[in-house]
Amino acid sequence: MTQENTAAIEPSWLTSLNPEQYEAVKTTDGALLVLSGAGTGKTSVLVARMAYILSSELARPWNCMAVTFTNRAAKEMGERLEAMIGSAADDVWFGTFHKICVKILRRHAGLLGFESNFTIIDTDDQLRLIKRIMIEEGLDAKEHPAQGAHSIIERWKDKGLAPDKVSFSQVSEYAAGKTLTIYKKYQDRLRSINAMDFGDLLLHCLTLFTKNQEVLAKYQNQFRYILVDEYQDTNVSQYLWLRLLAGKHKNICCVGDDDQSIYSWRGAEIENILRFEKDFAGAKTIRLERNYRSTGHILGAASGLISHNNERLGKTLRVASADVGDGEPVQVRGLYDAKEEARTVINEIENLYRTGSSLSQIAILVRAGFQMREFEEKLVSESVSYRVIGGPRFYERMEIRDAMAYLRLVVQSSDDLAFERIINKPKRGLGDATVSKVRELAGKLGFSMLMAAERIVETDELKPKPRNTLRGFVEDFSRWKAYLDDIPSSELVAMVLEESGYLDMWRKDKAPDAAGRVENLKELVSSIEEKFESLPEFLEHVSLVMENDESPDGDKITLMTLHAAKGLEFDAVFLTGWEEGLIPHNKAVEENGTKAIEEERRLAHVGITRARKRVFISFAANRCIFGNWQNSLPSRFVEELPSEHININSASGLYGSSTTEKSGTWSWSGGGKWKNTKTQQNKKDIWKIKTSKGEIPTGSRIFHQKFGYGKVMEADGDKLEIAFEKAGRKKIKASFVEKV
Ligand code: ATP
Ligand code: MG
Repeated sequence: MTQENTAAIEPSWLTSLNPEQYEAVKTTDGALLVLSGAGTGKTSVLVARMAYILSSELARPWNCMAVTFTNRAAKEMGERLEAMIGSAADDVWFGTFHKICVKILRRHAGLLGFESNFTIIDTDDQLRLIKRIMIEEGLDAKEHPAQGAHSIIERWKDKGLAPDKVSFSQVSEYAAGKTLTIYKKYQDRLRSINAMDFGDLLLHCLTLFTKNQEVLAKYQNQFRYILVDEYQDTNVSQYLWLRLLAGKHKNICCVGDDDQSIYSWRGAEIENILRFEKDFAGAKTIRLERNYRSTGHILGAASGLISHNNERLGKTLRVASADVGDGEPVQVRGLYDAKEEARTVINEIENLYRTGSSLSQIAILVRAGFQMREFEEKLVSESVSYRVIGGPRFYERMEIRDAMAYLRLVVQSSDDLAFERIINKPKRGLGDATVSKVRELAGKLGFSMLMAAERIVETDELKPKPRNTLRGFVEDFSRWKAYLDDIPSSELVAMVLEESGYLDMWRKDKAPDAAGRVENLKELVSSIEEKFESLPEFLEHVSLVMENDESPDGDKITLMTLHAAKGLEFDAVFLTGWEEGLIPHNKAVEENGTKAIEEERRLAHVGITRARKRVFISFAANRCIFGNWQNSLPSRFVEELPSEHININSASGLYGSSTTEKSGTWSWSGGGKWKNTKTQQNKKDIWKIKTSKGEIPTGSRIFHQKFGYGKVMEADGDKLEIAFEKAGRKKIKASFVEKV
């Protein structure tokens, strides 16, 4: 058949492929690795390959499985496939590893000692269960947080290790060396309540296959073709699972990019992709080098950055055709603070919008969730529609809603919804019985619940313990109310969050998301400090922000974390907060040294390569992190960007519009280095209600707003043990007392 003839009968989704892509689509027999950089069409190849397999009837839909990283990606793949070949794609097994495993496990649960309606438990429940087991094992919960054992167990599961497979040498000292016992008990307990955690979905599936040859044979026969996207982020148990399933037909095609591996903290093993050829005998590797997504400058900046990583296979990327051209250099901008960063970014977005860009083609990417708040505020005040991917919007978060309920009740005693929301948050022993009594009295007297609570504590309606607690609660609110006009709102909010014990509740929580919640609460305080005269004004602002919640569709900007952006593409991408400590993130750096820096660099690289036409990178000289103003240094990744591909906007001053008396300025000195020329701070640390300057030694006499005068009995850094004249002994942070 001649070339023309072939072209004449081939559908456009095949003819539009470049030769390497075409080869990858048509190499259907055996193991194939498509290893190539961002935007080279890996995902596109995967879809076209599936379409090719089905349309040429190499297999029936249920003989094909496509594994993606998120459910959303699976859905998108299904839609694209349907556009190519219509309903022929209907019965393909699409989904995440977890989703496909659940489907298999429900069918064979009995073989593993489960019922087919097993539940899948979340992290909170996992931690509760592990904690209970640890206590039974005689371990002190404070000394050995359940979180530690939880992550050890999770890592074992990521490696495909059931309790009987964990070798002695893999058991650490943690929890007095009892982690394996805990793991065994945890698994037994889960089985007894017919439940699995996320890691179990793969682990049990592996056990099912290895212990039941006939079941394995059934699925091995069924899956003639297995396709895997984002292979660089698979963990060992996923790899073992794939290898078992591909064991008969051996037609497995994995696509990935070692430079985009960003999930090692969840057990992903970059080695899976590095040793593919060894693991699957006769495997073929195809490299795609043409990037169809981005302009020359964007590719140049991304390649220059990632070339600083040592642990990589290394690859060339070039623009797909000369027509694309270099485009605009990557814009790099140093700004004064997060507020100015948000203002600048949103101004730029408005310019793009005015010149015809659609909002859905623009993304703002952050490294840490708390960075979103500043952008959300500004987007709302400028009436720009946006959506947050991979999490709720800032003011919709549980901890922010709780905090707002406290504040609403301070401002408005009649807010019964707020009262009910926080009466027992943190747990104070004021349960349903107490709340019903208060509610009943409120109904009888026509009072608000808070007022009814004030009354009820003067009677003997409640038992002494809840009565006293409720009295404390009522007194707290009247004290906070009294401060309403006297102290700045941000200080009042910080005081409410501290004294109510709400913030402490999250500080003590060992769940993985607790630290993020503390960050968000502190961000809430920072936000009030910046612009609101009074608390009612702030509350009104928030209700307006919340109202701006229209339909999920429509032309909207996307706001999300870098991790959530994997695989996606936009015309313009704003990469924000490129400062040391944020990216590379401090936590990652402290935990894992050079390896972690390389992963953070890959994350930065994923960010840049999301863009088709424009990249805008910003960093701020001052950032309020954890409630403290800090001078920050530009990320090392900014310095690593090749100068020929970037444009540092110094004409308008690196600060955009800020004035000179502000602190921390950047200058672009010779040799490609950013210098922070001034480190003076002139912002007050609003998190500290009453800042004590310097140390407070043992023996000092102090004053605390709630507990009055006292004497410091013991001082351990900023933690003080104080004997109060009226309130007895308490542990208090130094920043909350004043030396007198
Ligand atoms: P990532 O590494 O970010 O996941 P990828 O390698 O999966 O990227 P795709 O998302 O498949 O890349 O493709 C990137 C862009 O290039 C998409 O917009 C896609 O439609 C386009 N593209 C891919 N191949 C071709 C081609 N042969 N001709 C024209 N456009 C193409
Ligand atoms: Mg992709």
